[in-house]
Amino acid sequence: MSHLAHNVEMIRQNIADAANAAGRNAQEITLLAATKTRDAQTVRAVIAAGITTVGENRVQEMTEKLAQNAYLGASLHFIGQLQTNKVKQVASRVELIHSVDTLRLAAEIEKVVGRLWEQDKTTAAQDVLVEVNIGGEYSKGGVEPPELPAFLEQLAGFAHLRVRGLMCIPPPARTPDEARRYFAAMKSLFDRNTRLLDASGAPILSMGMSDDYEQAVREGATLVRVGTALFGPRIYT
Ligand SMILES: *Cc1c(COP(=O)(O)O)cnc(C)c1O
Repeated sequence: MSHLAHNVEMIRQNIADAANAAGRNAQEITLLAATKTRDAQTVRAVIAAGITTVGENRVQEMTEKLAQNAYLGASLHFIGQLQTNKVKQVASRVELIHSVDTLRLAAEIEKVVGRLWEQDKTTAAQDVLVEVNIGGEYSKGGVEPPELPAFLEQLAGFAHLRVRGLMCIPPPARTPDEARRYFAAMKSLFDRNTRLLDASGAPILSMGMSDDYEQAVREGATLVRVGTALFGPRIYT
């Protein structure tokens, strides 16, 4: 077995254990491979090892790997911060954008997808998640929790956006319990606002990364985003 296949199996087992411990069904949890800095060949290898969903952070890097057909056989998500001037390169090329956190960004996606729809009638709406600043960190992306209901109501007015759920990147935690408190706060926010989410599929709660995905699953994540634990440390050049 390749080391990637081994890691995929190990992480899936950890997810299943955490789900069982919480009385949840592991089937309802998606393992997304966070592939930033990994080359096209590595992305293909992780898909061959059984990964069905991959997430990219940087538009330029994603565009290069798209040109190399790196994502064939998987669903592609955009998980990084998205600038409004790059929406054209992302909207309708990915199945889900995880990081909508301003009205300006939402309006730009609406505009770009609306135009595409007029042109070719292929993609009527872009699926998105709303990113929440669950740790209330200063100068970090994400909607502040008290502002979430009003924000979701504003987004419901956009015909070409489908808000499928919520996403967060909590502050670095010193202990597993600290991480769990953020995830529990997110789950409670998610449950209180489910009626404001698009009902075209099961609502998505995207939280948990290499260091804390088991805690996130225990608290109700339906999608975990894992990079390092799958591929090893990232080398930035
Ligand atoms: C890089 C990244 C991840 C994965 O991080 P690891 O700690 O390597 O698992 C998850 N989510 C987002 C938004 C990321 O940028």
